[in-house]
Amino acid sequence: YRLSKIDKQETTCGFCAVGCRFEMWGKDGDSLGVVPVDDPNDAPANNFSTCVKGKFGHEFANSEQRVTEPMVRNDDGDLEPTSWDEALEYVAERFAEIQDEHGIDSLGCLASSKGSNEEAYLVQKFARQVLGTKNIDNCARLCHSSTVAALQQTLGYGAMTNRINEDIGEADAYLISGSNTTESHPVLATRIKQNVREGADLVVFDPRKIGIAEHADQYTRTNPGYDVAWLNGLIRYIIEHDLHDEAFIERNTRDFEEVREKVQAFTPEKVEDLAGVSPEELASAAETLAEADSVVFGWAMGMTQQSHGTENLIAMADLALVLGQVGKPGAGLSPFRGQNNVQGGGGDMGTLPGSLPGYQNPADDEVGEKFADAWGERPPEEPGLKVPEMLAEAHAGNLRGMYVVGENPALSEPDIQHAAEALADMEFLVVQDIFMTETADYADVVLPAATSPEKHGTFTNTERRIQRVRPTSEPPGEARQDWEITQALARRLGYDWDYDHPREVMDEINSLVPIYGGVTYDRLESGDQHGLQWPCWDEDHEGTPFLYDYEEGNFNFEDGKARFVPADGGHPGEIPDEEYPLTLTSGRVLYHWHTGQITRRVEGLMSHVGESFVEVHPETAEKLGIADGEYVRVESRRGDIVVKAQVTDRVGPGTLFIPMHFAAGAVNKLTGETFDPTAGIPEYKVSSVRVEVL
Ligand code: SF4
Repeated sequence: YRLSKIDKQETTCGFCAVGCRFEMWGKDGDSLGVVPVDDPNDAPANNFSTCVKGKFGHEFANSEQRVTEPMVRNDDGDLEPTSWDEALEYVAERFAEIQDEHGIDSLGCLASSKGSNEEAYLVQKFARQVLGTKNIDNCARLCHSSTVAALQQTLGYGAMTNRINEDIGEADAYLISGSNTTESHPVLATRIKQNVREGADLVVFDPRKIGIAEHADQYTRTNPGYDVAWLNGLIRYIIEHDLHDEAFIERNTRDFEEVREKVQAFTPEKVEDLAGVSPEELASAAETLAEADSVVFGWAMGMTQQSHGTENLIAMADLALVLGQVGKPGAGLSPFRGQNNVQGGGGDMGTLPGSLPGYQNPADDEVGEKFADAWGERPPEEPGLKVPEMLAEAHAGNLRGMYVVGENPALSEPDIQHAAEALADMEFLVVQDIFMTETADYADVVLPAATSPEKHGTFTNTERRIQRVRPTSEPPGEARQDWEITQALARRLGYDWDYDHPREVMDEINSLVPIYGGVTYDRLESGDQHGLQWPCWDEDHEGTPFLYDYEEGNFNFEDGKARFVPADGGHPGEIPDEEYPLTLTSGRVLYHWHTGQITRRVEGLMSHVGESFVEVHPETAEKLGIADGEYVRVESRRGDIVVKAQVTDRVGPGTLFIPMHFAAGAVNKLTGETFDPTAGIPEYKVSSVRVEVL
């Protein structure tokens, strides 16, 4: 059934948010080959390279394990293949029944950051217009929601301020923290390393000595969970030594004095005590960053997934503002977003409980009326439940049903025993996906979907660049495009949706979402410029390569000024004690992707890393009698797992690391319980555990 009509297409990588462009080839029905686009104008983010996942990681699409038919759970509790007609009718009936009996908000939707913008837009429209529920969220809740909250408060837009090649690739200095860039964003890391080889300074603060740290001028190991301390310590040093950009602060910001006052408490002694950063390391990093003409501040989930995630990133933004390193070439705040379309599908398209597409406020009457004109009814004005709240409400019996598109909360949520119970308790669960995921195991209905090499649409990468995605193959069996499935459900529930192609969905998006106002398929396909970076206000607007302006400010507030916001930090939710004396952190490895649904099905990738493991520092290993390669039990207050020990000084003494990709040895059996109060992001990066040698 595969690769029937089309042999080659220029498209966008479906793994991470670097958004590499390549030509994808289909051959003989069982493999997909990839060649990077060799024109930098056509591939602005990757400039003629891809990583191992982008190049060799697409055979999952041909897997025999793809879901190829709709399935409905029968009276014996087994999922049984059925027709699309019956499956859709059943879903529509059950959703209507549940809402009749338990109210509109007894249902919730979880959208995907892996699908296209058009698909994500339709899922939130389905939630708000068709179901009328305010409960819509997506997996960005679990990765960069704290980034978005912090940057919205300080700069206005919750997004990367700059470009990959021209700014991240050309900076004079970098501060990277909480990002295993080499393994999670390999092509981006290559650009940084090239630039470092040519003389740029690289400063890395991280609890793990990750790959990018090998290239750093300064690597400083930090204690997990205390990032506000060292960030505020840096700000204090910079102000105290008169290294701040006074003219920029005066011209373009507000509330500087509040931050100046706040950071006074973060003396070098306090920073060392909390974060494990010595006064010398603090001074050296501050001097390096202050001396550079342009600085990129890069981070990922090591910073975001903490109970103080939002404050971490507020402090990072304060640091950039103190140094005047925003709004000019080579500088900027650069959250390295995770999934291929987490910027677009996970945020821009409004798959968020409190934001309509384009981060528009549903309680704003003008906005509400605009959507009412387009949709026939005003979307709910109140914010709905975030993903962890939906599962908690399911557990409590209040959320009765969910429509989960392309996400896997059974493995990605913290404390997955609790998540599993919530999914099992749910009266009616619909999962739309390409494989039988751990979440699909709990589903009442499974709807077979298409994957990125099989679809038309757009993705928005981490630099806000909207790019075209094109198919090189057909979905297997009865599987359909996600937008077609969502539309079919809407029609069953009485809504006359009538899109023939994702380009028509984009036409609706650009009419309702000002930052996408000038984005059309015609422009994306014209070849005049490659992709469009939002905000792109209208058809004559060229898009916005970097946000804000060093001279003029132009921050996204009425007065155009950035806001300094004091950050406190504090302690993580769990602190090691006698019972659980070690600190566990989690993350990714180069060869795998998130919950591993895709990459665990690629033999070539599994041959590199085929099972979960735990990194243990040699001192800790000696103290506990752990030998390299032996299996150990790691236990937290939530549960325990058995994994193979890797004895390595990549982690510090007393800290452990376990990757997030595996169902056997699932790290999220151990994480949980503490959340960032602003963004609702779980504290995956700090848990107290103990280890038992088997
Ligand atoms: Fe794909 Fe990311 Fe690798 Fe680029 S760096 S090829 S976008 S996985």
